[in-house]
Amino acid sequence: MNLPRATVGLDIGGTKTLAALLAPDGLVVAQARIATTRGADGVVDGAVRAVQGVLRQAGQDAAALGGVGVGVPGIVDPATGTVRHAVNLGVDGVPLPLARRLADELGVGAVVENDLNVAAVGAAHLLPEPDGRSDDLAFLALGTGLAAGLVLDGALRRGSTGAAGEIGHVPVHPDGPVCACGQRGCLELYASGSAVEALWPPGTHGRSPDVPAPVALFEAATAGDPAATAAVQRYADAVAAAVRMLVLSVDVRHVVLGGGVAQLGEPLLEAVHAALVRQEAASAFVASLALPGRVRLAPGHVPVGAVGAAVLARAIPARPAAVRPAETA
Ligand SMILES: [Zn+2]
Repeated sequence: MNLPRATVGLDIGGTKTLAALLAPDGLVVAQARIATTRGADGVVDGAVRAVQGVLRQAGQDAAALGGVGVGVPGIVDPATGTVRHAVNLGVDGVPLPLARRLADELGVGAVVENDLNVAAVGAAHLLPEPDGRSDDLAFLALGTGLAAGLVLDGALRRGSTGAAGEIGHVPVHPDGPVCACGQRGCLELYASGSAVEALWPPGTHGRSPDVPAPVALFEAATAGDPAATAAVQRYADAVAAAVRMLVLSVDVRHVVLGGGVAQLGEPLLEAVHAALVRQEAASAFVASLALPGRVRLAPGHVPVGAVGAAVLARAIPARPAAVRPAETA
């Protein structure tokens, strides 16, 4: 049995790369944030710089690390650590063997995972239950799109083809507008961050286009604007539908709200709670699910995805030569 060692996790997004250094006791001891450079070489170089940045902050060097974990928005083969399709990172067409390249550059083992999956693992690590358990949740990302990462009974659930948690493309209004996926009335059209922009377009209602749509909408509702109040309710109803869908599918203990819209914090949580309470009032069955008590906000003070990536890196075996089973597979 190996002694636990520190690990670094990275969450590489289209504009920024977040890094977290996780101490052997599970605490985040350093964080860094750098701009993402697009393209295969840019992604690798940026990842190396981000790892070096948190190590420098903590006064450690790579030799002390147990490994590096990475979350990326795209199609990942977690067995090989290869990114096959991540348009936001400028990685498309030619697969990027990111785990192998990072292992070569840093001299430690590396694992790569989809960004939603690392966020779910990070949320499970950062939001333990009062009884110490933290192993059963959905991380619902309210971003450009809508999807959930799932940690079920302590294990990451990717799905047989990696599509677990893609609830954004469950059609909820068969006569609704056409979704980018080709279906009509997908949940994503009503509950994502893009849906907020459609309800309350940036730059309208007397606000600067620089104010994010969720902020402008919720501020207008708080100020008593009836159209904004109605729009907040419609949006919260859609997020509540996503929560209900996740609980009815896999009965997770918690649904953690994350992604750009969740940066609203408590006002979003209150609106979603109110929507769930409205839905409970109409159905004893829904009421029996105790949905409002299951919804939580993602922690705002730490990069959840980077922390989850660091947690996944803890499973890397101690000998770097043994970390890339794909080479022999
Ligand atoms: Zn769709």
